[in-house]
Amino acid sequence: MRVPFIAGNWKMNMTIAEAVELVNGIQIGLKWPEEVDVVVAPPFTALKMISEVSKDSYIAVSAQNIHQEENGAYTGEIAASFVKDAGATYAIIGHSERRQYFGETDEVVNKKVRVALKHELKPIVCVGETLEQREKGDFFTVIEEQLSKGLEDLTKVLASEIVIAYEPVWAIGTGKVATPTQVEEVHEKIRNFLKKTFSDEVGESVRILYGGSVKPSNSQEILALPNVDGALVGGASLKAPDFINIIKSLPSK
Ligand code: PEP
Repeated sequence: MRVPFIAGNWKMNMTIAEAVELVNGIQIGLKWPEEVDVVVAPPFTALKMISEVSKDSYIAVSAQNIHQEENGAYTGEIAASFVKDAGATYAIIGHSERRQYFGETDEVVNKKVRVALKHELKPIVCVGETLEQREKGDFFTVIEEQLSKGLEDLTKVLASEIVIAYEPVWAIGTGKVATPTQVEEVHEKIRNFLKKTFSDEVGESVRILYGGSVKPSNSQEILALPNVDGALVGGASLKAPDFINIIKSLPSK
């Protein structure tokens, strides 16, 4: 059985004080939930503080990004070992905003996945098509390429450590949500890709999240889909009551 997984990507929001208020709000509003992995991804500056505040709670902490090199002359960049040192146990890798605004390629995504795993950070690997790619029709080829290059040469053991987030670019921050049919279709294909590439066990065990304008009013329908194991939430994760209501809308599958 796959343990459901809800992650909040706070993006470039939240001072340290605001981040602490938000995480406290989640902890006060939602006592230890059963059988769900809850993860928050604050900006780098709040990582250590949020890790400390969440230490004895059910909330785990993720970086929003890491650099692909271990260390060195990369002014302004943050290494996997630093975020691990600050208390993170996950790292979001290949988010569409990184791909779109910072030129992150599948090759870079692969390096980041490897360096994350080397430092015992579980990668949350994001894939998804643009509107143009969807409208052209054969958009799963795009997603398959992101997966095969991004996860290239991983062993089965390492592949079983990752979490995949399917985030159609046209649904991120736009208010447009993919329909349940669209979501389930892609999630099933991603699972089949994982089975074919690694093994049935890996395909059955890896959590596949949906991301793209998830909010309390639509989360129940999406989270009930058979191949959806959770959500990566952007905007709605910035308000404790909304994030809590999304977690509460998880079905018992
Ligand atoms: C995201 O940033 O990963 C995301 C899904 O954002 P939003 O929920 O705001 O669409």
